[in-house]
Amino acid sequence: MNHSLKTCQTFDETQIINLIKKDYLDFCLQYDVSEHRFEFSVIADNNLNTSMHILGNGILGINLDSTDENAKSIVLSCGVHGNETAPIEICNDLVNAFTHGQLTTPHRILFIFGNIPSMLIAERFVEENLNRLFSYELPIKTNEGARAKELMDSVDSFFSDAKDGRYHYDLHTAIRPSKNEKFAVYPFLHGKPYSKSQLAFLSCCDVNTILLSQSPTTTFSYFSSVNYNAHAFTVELGKVMPFGKNDMSKFNAVRSSLINLITEKHLTLPAYEACPIEVYQVNQVINKQQEDFALHFSDSLANFESFKKDDVLASETGKVYKAKVDGEAVVFPNANVAIGQRAILTVVPHKI
Ligand SMILES: [Zn+2]
Repeated sequence: MNHSLKTCQTFDETQIINLIKKDYLDFCLQYDVSEHRFEFSVIADNNLNTSMHILGNGILGINLDSTDENAKSIVLSCGVHGNETAPIEICNDLVNAFTHGQLTTPHRILFIFGNIPSMLIAERFVEENLNRLFSYELPIKTNEGARAKELMDSVDSFFSDAKDGRYHYDLHTAIRPSKNEKFAVYPFLHGKPYSKSQLAFLSCCDVNTILLSQSPTTTFSYFSSVNYNAHAFTVELGKVMPFGKNDMSKFNAVRSSLINLITEKHLTLPAYEACPIEVYQVNQVINKQQEDFALHFSDSLANFESFKKDDVLASETGKVYKAKVDGEAVVFPNANVAIGQRAILTVVPHKI
């Protein structure tokens, strides 16, 4: 199988638009539009007009030129890890609904399909983890580094033209199963207050576990949060499955909530206090320091599985890592990271 994208150089815009309208994801996985920048419009079934902006490979803007002062600016990103297919399929369905005229929006939207080369090989990434590269301070060493810059530039110009609120939901699925199957990481806010209405929105998406990050990171959601004051979250929607193998019924709540977010001028949300939300705070960030770093629990341990004080979590030459309090839970354990990178995050319940 040839994993490189085909050129569109010989196509005129109508041919490209027709291919996009057939299926946006199929198009993204086949064709390179990096040399093309153009706009087309769709007259929807309800006679409203949607303008679609092709901004790069897997980067598509909707109604970017809206002059409506109440228009929200919403970034929906997926596939920042190429094998996390469910969010890619969810976003693709939304894009197709726009190109087929079934969906219209009063808002500005930026759809981002993050790491297309890694989707083509069904891997999390090709050379390095794209979701550690969202900072202009980092040197660009790989294609993923260059892609991070391209995506940051797109978000920068999208949010710079924003009228009203800025929102970014970076949609993922986790490598491991999770005791709390769907959860979201709330980026470090540098002391700003948490948005309870955003948490209520996540609860409507069936995301009832929230992890409060306690430090700056180089993730996509932190990038939008810290630089543009966007309501931004890394949203984990379940376990990684191959394309076409997802039980899409598990995503009904998130799909209908995203459609409400996109289509409604003002979202009606339940009170935060009425939502069954559990909030956790990071307690320990354990970075791998030695090649022999090993986890002291089963590889099949679910995210949010909890430990007792002094239970050994991991060890490596010269160091043993233990739970510091009863009920400390483990998320994202991965012994196969590069030296210096995070191997385990531990969390404890927290009230906001
Ligand atoms: Zn991911």
